[in-house]
Amino acid sequence: MKVAALAGGTGAAKLLRGLAQVIDPMDLTIVGNTGDDAEVWGLHVSPDLDTVTYALAGRLDVARGWGLADETFHCLDAMATLGGETWFNLGDRDLALHLWRTRALRGGQSLSTITAEVTRRLGVRSRLLPMSDDPVRTRIETPDGWLDFQEYFVREKAQPAVRAIAYVGAERARPAPGVVEALRDADLVLVCPSNPVTSVGPILSVPGVVDALRASRTVMGVSPIIGGAPVSGPAGTLMRARGLEVSAAGVATAYAPWLRTLVVDTRDREAPAAVGALGVRAVVADTLMTDRATEVALARSVIGAV
Ligand code: GDP
Repeated sequence: MKVAALAGGTGAAKLLRGLAQVIDPMDLTIVGNTGDDAEVWGLHVSPDLDTVTYALAGRLDVARGWGLADETFHCLDAMATLGGETWFNLGDRDLALHLWRTRALRGGQSLSTITAEVTRRLGVRSRLLPMSDDPVRTRIETPDGWLDFQEYFVREKAQPAVRAIAYVGAERARPAPGVVEALRDADLVLVCPSNPVTSVGPILSVPGVVDALRASRTVMGVSPIIGGAPVSGPAGTLMRARGLEVSAAGVATAYAPWLRTLVVDTRDREAPAAVGALGVRAVVADTLMTDRATEVALARSVIGAV
């Protein structure tokens, strides 16, 4: 079975790690969010692409959910001594990837070419595509003005009130090479349990992606909301800001025009009826991934539901 997945960071990384145990990893193509890419110390940071890469390479720091395991932060300490910006945590080993990627980008290579090379060198057997090689940047409007996503999420710890969300550059962006074909040719398009507004939303904002989803054989999502709250991160606040209920039904509402099936959590007793009322088939499973075994079990439920 060929699977194409739309992926953000932490939630997606866990499910994809499970999925790579359940299907042939070579049959998996991942379309990663680049809306929360940023520049830190002059380096190009792609947090969601890197989280997925490190997870599939077996190198992700599992406790933090980002960055490399066995990481040190001496450069960050030295930067603090210099009075440099230190709110974004770049680890010492992780810096190598950032230096390498930034130099390649400045040399004229595309983000998708660089991502393919990085995943190959780290032994990832699935294909990881950035949603676009063109810059699309998620911006958050707060009472004090517009912030880049990482300024809102990491520097301000997602505390400011959210007035609006924008995907700057989306209207001029083209899907990266292979994205539309992967969505069109997959037996299953899987929308990972990721933030619907700032992880999946930017991918959907790239012209051509929603049309490809409408034309796909079957699209199934896994709700990132369990029992009226996200498992982690600011998805609740951002969904409310978008006028969406913070529930599996709110997730189904966001994806309803093209979503066939949504996997909802066993803890959400009202979810199947509410999701069904939106014309989306609900499948019930334990969707909380706390270790490798639960990641694989959820991946099996997803494949079993197709
Ligand atoms: P962010 O952290 O909100 O910026 O977004 P990401 O899309 O990178 O990843 C976090 C999303 O994954 C949140 O919406 C979480 O609720 C969801 N998530 C994380 N772990 C799990 C899990 O074990 N199960 C489910 N169903 N969702 C999860």
